[in-house]
Amino acid sequence: MNRAREPIIALSGVRKTYEPEREDSYVLRGVDLEIGASESVSLMGASGSGKSTLLNLIGGLDRDYEGEARVLGRDLRRLDDRELSRFRNLSIGFVFQSFHLLPHLTVRQNVSLPASFNRRRSAASVAGLVGDALERVKLTHKADSLPTRLSGGERQRVAIARALFNQPSILLCDEPTGSLDQRTGAMILDLFGELNATAGITLLLVTHDPGVAAEAARIIKLEDGRVIADSLSLDQKENSR
Ligand code: ADP
Ligand code: MG
Repeated sequence: MNRAREPIIALSGVRKTYEPEREDSYVLRGVDLEIGASESVSLMGASGSGKSTLLNLIGGLDRDYEGEARVLGRDLRRLDDRELSRFRNLSIGFVFQSFHLLPHLTVRQNVSLPASFNRRRSAASVAGLVGDALERVKLTHKADSLPTRLSGGERQRVAIARALFNQPSILLCDEPTGSLDQRTGAMILDLFGELNATAGITLLLVTHDPGVAAEAARIIKLEDGRVIADSLSLDQKENSR
């Protein structure tokens, strides 16, 4: 087990409600959590248990919460809007169930979208980063295709390449295999495992599927907005890599 010492994600007493005027409407009810650099972690729980809410908060998409969330050593609520955008763009990669690709742009253009938030990159460095990202997901040969010409698995690989574009430290994945058949999903999970093992990217994988969750080294279970279990996955116990 390569659990690093210094937490890259640290939540303490995190509470969240979407309806502050309603009593007892908290969807996160006091979450304490530490994740080390280069860990691979599944966040599991039934639909509605607060997984996406927690992931969005860690990724800086939502700053309306109580308690403390430190990611890469920064207290997210203390960042101003510019610092927060920069943090999201450069440090965090998001992957969603429904890919969120722009259909009228080619694979290459979709992958380079994050560059439009960072004008300091030269065209040559953008091209280099796109090339690297596409190589990582083994889609170099589809660079000029439109997403509509790709299979579901290929589309998700484009979305992953886009998430990798800025070489983030953390990859946040919300039900990333939810729209894929089992075999394709397994390939995507292998890819995440490889990125974690070779590039040392910290992986946080949200899923309601125990089979998917078992692909990560550590499984955290959420129920009604609280962490109810946090343990090594069975696979890891059997053959501790
Ligand atoms: P999960 O991802 O585990 O299915 P979510 O974090 O999406 O759970 O949702 C947790 C709870 O918060 C659910 O009851 C959901 O209806 C509610 N919720 C999620 N997003 C919003 C929102 N934008 N506005 C109001 N309620 C929301
Ligand atoms: Mg969700």
